Amino acid sequence: MVVGGGLVGLAIAYGVRRLGLSVTVLDGGDDAHRASRGNFALVWGQGKGFGTPDYARWTQASLSAWPGFAAELADISGIDLHYRGQGGFHLCFDEGGFERRGAMLDRHAAELGADAYPFEMVPAFELRRTFPHLGPTMAGASYSPRDGDVNSLHLYRALITALRRLGGSYRPGAPATGIARDGAGFAVVAGGQTFRARTVVIAAGIETERLAGLVGMSVPVRPQTGQIIVTEKAVPFLPYAVSTVRQTNEGGVMLGDSVEERGHDDTVTTGVLGITAARAIAAFPVIARLAVVRSWAALRVMSPDGLPVYQQSASQPGAFACICHSGVTLAAIHAGELARQVAGGALTGQAAAFGTGRFDVRAA
Ligand SMILES: Cc1cc2nc3c(=O)[nH]c(=O)nc-3n(C[C@H](O)[C@H](O)[C@H](O)COP(=O)(O)OP(=O)(O)OC[C@H]3O[C@@H](n4cnc5c(N)ncnc54)[C@H](O)[C@@H]3O)c2cc1C
Repeated sequence: MVVGGGLVGLAIAYGVRRLGLSVTVLDGGDDAHRASRGNFALVWGQGKGFGTPDYARWTQASLSAWPGFAAELADISGIDLHYRGQGGFHLCFDEGGFERRGAMLDRHAAELGADAYPFEMVPAFELRRTFPHLGPTMAGASYSPRDGDVNSLHLYRALITALRRLGGSYRPGAPATGIARDGAGFAVVAGGQTFRARTVVIAAGIETERLAGLVGMSVPVRPQTGQIIVTEKAVPFLPYAVSTVRQTNEGGVMLGDSVEERGHDDTVTTGVLGITAARAIAAFPVIARLAVVRSWAALRVMSPDGLPVYQQSASQPGAFACICHSGVTLAAIHAGELARQVAGGALTGQAAAFGTGRFDVRAA
C-alpha cells in the first residue's frame, strides 16, 4: 500500500508492481498540494550533493538508471516522456560566478573521487555555438553530459497508466485518514473504506510528517515555495536543458529559479516573477518578446537538511516513509533500487544513509 500518489509514491508503486507484488496507491483529491504537478522537470545531478557524497552518488545512480527507466515506462504506458538525457547547462551570469562555479565543481569531483561525474566549464564565446541567442553579458556555463529534462506531466501520467496496465491500483480522491497496526500488517482507512496491506509506504509529500507519526516515525518536512513562468510557444531555440530556463517539447519556455520559505503559501507574487523574468531575459534576450501565458507557485517537499528521507518505522516494521526534494530526478532510482528494498523489507546500502536518525543526532 502506498499512501500518496505524487511522483515519489507512484515511482515506488510502479517499481514494486514490476517485481510482481500487488500494490494500491491511495491519493488525495484535486485540492491536494502536489509538487509533482508544479515542478521544473529537470533530471539533474551537477552540483547536487556537494558536501554530502551519499546524496551525490544516489543522484548519479538515478541518472544512470534514467534512460532504461524512461524507455520501459514509455513502452508500458504508451506515453512519450520527452526525456532528453543529452546533457544540461547551468548558466553563470558574471566572471566571478563562472570562477566560483568551476571551483565548486572541481571540489565536488575531488570529494567523489572515482565516482565523480563528468563536467566542463564552457566560456560564453563557446557557449554561443550551442545557444546563438545567449545574452551579451553572460559569462558562460557549466555543462554535464549526464543531465537533462523530461515532460514531468507526461512522466506523472505514464506512471499512473503503467501502474494500472501492470495490474496495480491507483485511487485518487481517497486520502488516508487513519493508519494502524493490523495483525502482521496495517489497516489504512481512506474514503470510508479500510484497506489492508503487509507493507505501507507513506509518500504523501508535505503531509508525510503527520501520517508517519501515526506509525511511530518522526519525519520532519517543511514546504518551500517555488514560482514558475511559462511563455507562449516559440520555435525551438534552446536545444539543451538549462537549469533555470528550458523549452518544453511543445515550444513553451519555462522560467524558474526561485526559492522562498513562506510555509504553505503557494500564491504567485509579481516581485519574484519579475526577478525570474529579468534573469531569463539577461540569459536569452529573445525571451522578452514572448508573452507570458501562465505562472504558478508550488510547494517543494523539504527535509531539514534538504536531503531525501527514507525510513522504516522501528516500532512498527513494515511502515516506511519516503520524501525528497528532487522527485523527478530520483524517479528512476525510486522505481528501481528503492522499490526493491521496500519490497524486501529493509533499507540498505546508500538508501540507509537517508534515515531520520541523522536529525536525532543533530538535536542531541
Ligand atoms: C517549483 C518546483 C520545481 C521543482 N523542480 C524540480 C526539478 O526540476 N527536478 C526535480 O527532480 N524535482 C523538482 N521539484 C521537486 C519535485 O517536484 C518533488 O520532489 C516531487 O514532485 C515530490 O513528489 P511527492 O510525491 O513526494 O510529493 P507531491 O507531488 O506533493 O505529492 C504528494 C501526494 O500525496 C498525496 N496525499 C497527501 N495527503 C494524503 C493522504 N492523507 N492520503 C493519501 N494521499 C495523500 C497528495 O494528494 C499528493 O498527490 C520541484 C518542485 C517544485 C515545487
